[in-house]
Amino acid sequence: MTKIFKFGGASVKDANAIKNVGEVIKLYKDDLIVVVSAMGKTTNGLEKVVESYLSKDGKGLENLQAVKDFHFSILDDLFDNKNHPIFNEIHNTFVEIEWEIEEDPTREYDYIYDQIVSVGEILSTKIVSSYLNDVGVINTWQDVRDIIQTDNTHRQAKINWKLTEELIQKVISPQVKKEGQSIIITQGFIGSSSELFTTTLGREGSDFSAGILAYCLNAESVTIWKDVPGMLNADPKWFDDTKKLDNISYHEAVELAYYGASVIHPKTIKPLHNKNIPLYVKSFVSPNDDGTLINENTIEDSIVPSFIFKMNQVLISISAKDYSFVMEDSLSHIFGLFSKNGVSINLMQNSAISFSVCIDFDKQKTHQLIDELKVNYKVLYNNNLELVTIRHYNQKTIDRVTNKKEILVEQKSRQTARFVMKS
Ligand code: ASP
Ligand code: MG
Repeated sequence: MTKIFKFGGASVKDANAIKNVGEVIKLYKDDLIVVVSAMGKTTNGLEKVVESYLSKDGKGLENLQAVKDFHFSILDDLFDNKNHPIFNEIHNTFVEIEWEIEEDPTREYDYIYDQIVSVGEILSTKIVSSYLNDVGVINTWQDVRDIIQTDNTHRQAKINWKLTEELIQKVISPQVKKEGQSIIITQGFIGSSSELFTTTLGREGSDFSAGILAYCLNAESVTIWKDVPGMLNADPKWFDDTKKLDNISYHEAVELAYYGASVIHPKTIKPLHNKNIPLYVKSFVSPNDDGTLINENTIEDSIVPSFIFKMNQVLISISAKDYSFVMEDSLSHIFGLFSKNGVSINLMQNSAISFSVCIDFDKQKTHQLIDELKVNYKVLYNNNLELVTIRHYNQKTIDRVTNKKEILVEQKSRQTARFVMKS
């Protein structure tokens, strides 16, 4: 059966990392579909190119050159034969964007974003595929835009599941049913609209791509390869004694992702759960270790408490100007303003006269939203807060995170405790 692997940006951030990807793949004898993200911080780099191009700050080519230099230095480290055709292929891929950004933009931001930013995935998969073939890990490069079909909501494209499933069955299934092992290298994060333009699925969307491919192919499993030993009960950035979660349920994984655990893209779980396909999160540094298994088993969910930290939070408290209640009409108006400004709500709470909302701080959106709220309501807000969520909490874990901190909002349900605090 077919296994789906996903390697993120960190696992292909330089030549040594890419060589290691080859070593990991060599450990397997199954049919593999390998989804690869853009290398290192390439997606951020290409976002800068888009900003420059559209703001006409004159730095478009310069920002693109930085991305180009980065890829060529990796190529240089990977290939001793400097006449290998991959050098030309990558060069030509850049020339296409150079041409594009020399013309004045004629279309909207989201469309242009997708055309430029998607190139990161094309570059990385071409390089990884060539390198692997060069070292004897024989594979075929697949343009995922030939199989993942979406609508034309650029930057947040929705999957056309029916068409995608048909195309995957038609294009991929025959390849994996061949004699001997087949390895396909393809892109995450991107797809194609029915007008045949490139779309993207939202930042960090490559995990979701792996889930889509697994669902449509009835794959045996998905493995997300990471620089950590598996899913941990806290981000090592904030905790030095993190524990690995050995086995959690799909439900628990969705909850953790929802509260902000950034290991897996939240959308990845649903397609896997629907077909009961196990998801492994494993270390590309020690690929023989067990990692985390995510499946239907709920028995181990509450063994280890998990901590999810969100920094740079803003708590907005909204009340009526005349001290009346904040009622359903105003709530729907308030929610309308959040959604119009593209602001997601991390936590909310209401009292007799006010409605409080905790959100991520964003340079542009936050003040825009507050200004619009102020037209009809009295608005107070606090910056620089942290939101901590504890799954499967007890008093000890609560004390640990709230120690010496001023708590502004506290919420508890059976499994989850949440605190908005001054950092
Ligand atoms: N390269 C894209 C990003 O950095 C998609 C991904 O890595 O999942 O957001
Ligand atoms: Mg990435």
